[in-house]
Formats: sequence, C-alpha cells, structure tokens
Amino acid sequence: MDEDSKIIRGRDAQRMIVDTAWNMAEAVRATLGPRGMDMMLVDRMGNHVLTNDGASIIKALETRDPIAKILSEVAKSQEQNAFDGTTTCIIQIGELLRRADQLINDGSYPNAIIKGYRIALAQALEAAKANAIPMEPIDAARKVATTAITGKSAEDFVENLAELCARAAYIAEPSEIKLLTFPGSADDAELIEGVVILKGAVAQGMPEEVEGPVLLMEAEFSPPSANVTIADPRKIAEITEIQNLFLQNRFDKIKELGIKAVFCQKGMDSRASQFLRKQGILGFKNIRRSDMQRIAAATGAQVITDLGDINEEDLGNAKVSTHKAANAYAVIEGESSKAATILIPAPTEQAAEEFQRALEDAVGVAYLCVKEPFVVCGAGSIQATMAQHIKSQKPESNPKVEASRLAFAESLMIIPQTLAESAGMDKMDATVKLSANPSLGVDVNEMEIKEMEVYEPLAVVKSALSSAVENGVSLLRTHSIVMAKPIQEIFGERAD
Ligand code: ADP
Ligand code: MG
Repeated sequence: MDEDSKIIRGRDAQRMIVDTAWNMAEAVRATLGPRGMDMMLVDRMGNHVLTNDGASIIKALETRDPIAKILSEVAKSQEQNAFDGTTTCIIQIGELLRRADQLINDGSYPNAIIKGYRIALAQALEAAKANAIPMEPIDAARKVATTAITGKSAEDFVENLAELCARAAYIAEPSEIKLLTFPGSADDAELIEGVVILKGAVAQGMPEEVEGPVLLMEAEFSPPSANVTIADPRKIAEITEIQNLFLQNRFDKIKELGIKAVFCQKGMDSRASQFLRKQGILGFKNIRRSDMQRIAAATGAQVITDLGDINEEDLGNAKVSTHKAANAYAVIEGESSKAATILIPAPTEQAAEEFQRALEDAVGVAYLCVKEPFVVCGAGSIQATMAQHIKSQKPESNPKVEASRLAFAESLMIIPQTLAESAGMDKMDATVKLSANPSLGVDVNEMEIKEMEVYEPLAVVKSALSSAVENGVSLLRTHSIVMAKPIQEIFGERAD
C-alpha cells in the first residue's frame, strides 16, 4: 500500500488480511509440537530469548499493523481461556483464510464461504465431542499434563511433574497454584497443599507449627522512630519509654486476640520478635507483597496497615508450619480458599524458567480436565477425525457453500501436516495415511504414522477451532480497511 492511500477496499483489503494472517501463521508453524523448533526473539536493545511458545512469538510480532494486532489478541484470549492451543489456533486461522482466498479467486464470495465454514465448524465440533474419551478427572488431568510437558526440557521428570500438576489442579484453581523454583534437582519436586513462602521464622525458639488466628500487616512492626540526634540521656530514656508504651499497646492487642502467627510485609523490631517468641507466636518478616496477597486470600485475613486499630474481622485463620530443608520455608494452609504450591528444584536459572513455563501450561490444561474430564487424541488424530466426519456428511446444495465446507475439512489437516513436517516427514504421505485411518497420529520421534498415546483436553481443541473460525470469519467480512486517525479521537473515551 502506498503512503497516501488511506482506504484499502475490496479485494485489496482481503489480500492484505490474508497475507498478514498467513505470514503470522508461517512464523509460528515451525514451533508446533514437541519437535517444534525454538525461535530467537531479539529486541532493539539486543536482548534475546529462545522460545517455542506460540503466544510469546505472536506477541513479539505484534506491530502497529491492525491485522497483526487482531491475531495477537486472538492468541492471548486462547491462552487465557484454554491455557494452550495458541499456535494451533493461529495456524488454523492462516489456513482457513488462505483457502478462502483461493475460493474467492475461483469465483466464490465471502458470504458463501462463511456459511460453509460455519456448517463445517458445527460438524467438526460434533465429531470432537463424539470422539472424546471420558475419564476420571485426575486421570484426564495427568494425561494432558504429560502431553504438555513432553518435548520440553522438563520431559526427563515428566512422570512425577505431571502427577504433581494433576494433583495441584485437583486442589486449587490455576491462579492459586504457585510454582516455586529454587536451586536443586527436579527429582525432588513436590506438591504442598497451601501457600509456601521461602522464609524461616523471624527468631529462633519460635514454635514449629501453630494453628489459629493469623495477622497480616503491611507496615513495619516497630515503634515510630525518633528522627533526631539526641545527646541528652534523659531524652533518650523518655523516647525509649514512649516506644515501649507504643509496642506494649500492640502486644496487648495481639495477646487479647489470641493471634498465633504474624506476617509482616516489612521489617520487625527485635523487641517485637522477642515478644512473639515468648508468647509462642510464629513471626515472619519481609514477605513479598504478592505472597502477602496469597496468604490473605487463603486465610481470609485483611492486610492491615496500623496495628493500633485491628479487630477480629481483620484476622485470618490458618495452620502455619515451618520447615528446615536446604532452604527454610513455611507452609500456610488457610480455611478460606484452597491454594497449592509446587516446589520445583532446578539446576540452573534457565532450567528453572523453562520448568516454570512448561508447568504453567501443564497445570492449566490439567485444571481444564478436572472441570471437564474429556480428552481427545492429539498428534493430529483429532483433526483428521474431524475432517473425515465433515466429508462424510450430506453435501450442501449450494455448490459454493459446499466447496467451502470441504475446504474447511482440508484445512484441518494443516495441523497433522505441520507436525509431520516438523519431524522431517513427507506431509502428503502423512495426509494420505491419516485420512485413511484418523485414529492414528503423527509420531514425531519415530517419523511414522501410528497409534499414539497423546491426549489433549477436549476444551482446548474446541476453543482453538471455534476461535479460529469466529475470528477468521470476521476478518473475511472486512470489506475495507480505513487507515484512520486514532479511534479515540473519533469516538471519544468510550471506544476501546
Ligand atoms: P499449541 O500452542 O497449539 O499448544 P504446541 O507446540 O503445544 O502448540 O503443539 C501442540 C500440538 O502438538 C498438538 O496438535 C498436539 O497434539 C501435538 N503433540 C503434543 N505432543 C505430541 C507428541 N508427543 N507427539 C506428536 N504430537 C504431539
Ligand atoms: Mg501446547
């Protein structure tokens, strides 16, 4: 498009949309599946990162191009809703649009194509549901977590890690599951029910375990400091007296409320920690804000600013225990909401980051299966199954709609084809074999088409395909692109 033209119409607009979508799909194609390759993302500052995560790559490609932005939003929402399937979704949109473009070249038009795509989508989803395997939630969770971890560096520990992810997803929602990495060997990964903080008690001699009311405070647990240099010993005594009174007042409150553990976001005066120790109360200091929030959610406590005016409603309830491992840590099991923590020792910083990313996905898909315990066969099998089902349905009477319905079926095969290519296999050969027997899958390691034990949540497949079609359709509907001035200037603040 040249700089001056502000409106791109009709076929030109369509071509621009298809080109952008196709280019973005091309960019992530190579990363699909366990044999997918990494991409190096380099920013203007020369910082770089290796990744094969579709969503991050799409994010990096997000430019001021409006179509690239739309696709990036699609990837983000797939990630948020289904935790997985982002690369699949983008590849599928690219293929649906490419085929639509061909159909238009052959004399079809968007409305007929959209109609055919919608019919085919409904048929594809029917087939996915009919072929879904119901399982016990924990088994489904374990199976899909295994798929998510396979092909990543965490794969060596897949059995244990998948088990931990499944159990964590059984206990808590993904937002309440924390993955905590620290130096060590991943053999020792474990699941802990509750919130874990990597902190020991603030003073020695405190109890190892307590149960009861807990207090969370944001401010430092110490008296107001005197900000003057004082030489007069009497003045010093006076100030100390005031400070002690201040503390005593707070100590009385703590005793009165029967508090068993105190969590301080900031520091703690030694007089305060000694008081807690003598009372048999567990105390922690310098806790991260995000951890404070998790403890608050789990225990039902409010994070208070001033100890002076706390009352019972501000307190939470929990069992708190301290543990001495290579790293001291404490576990908080609240009564308010369920939390879980997976402790993942990792040999290097980089491994820690990779484990974390792999397990985040695994926990997400495991959670989906706890909620909706249906899995489908992956490795390209589910797409071949959907394609076969569409082809077996009664043809549409309108030939343009029918052509588009069949193009949809063909477009599904882009997933097994891409997997086959990632393994260096012949994609036509793979297509023929899978079409003849859709229950098989692409074995990317053995480079053959055979029965595979790769399971994905039905929810991920449904969501990736529906979202590819819905967004593909709305892009196909776009008749012209107007290079507008900022939308906010036109529609005011309400525009989003
Ligand atoms: P996405 O972002 O779409 O989740 P992935 O890179 O995770 O992309 O690849 C997902 C695809 O890889 C799915 O089609 C899935 O069935 C397939 N897959 C996963 N594990 C295997 C495996 N061990 N062998 C073959 N295919 C696999
Ligand atoms: Mg994935």
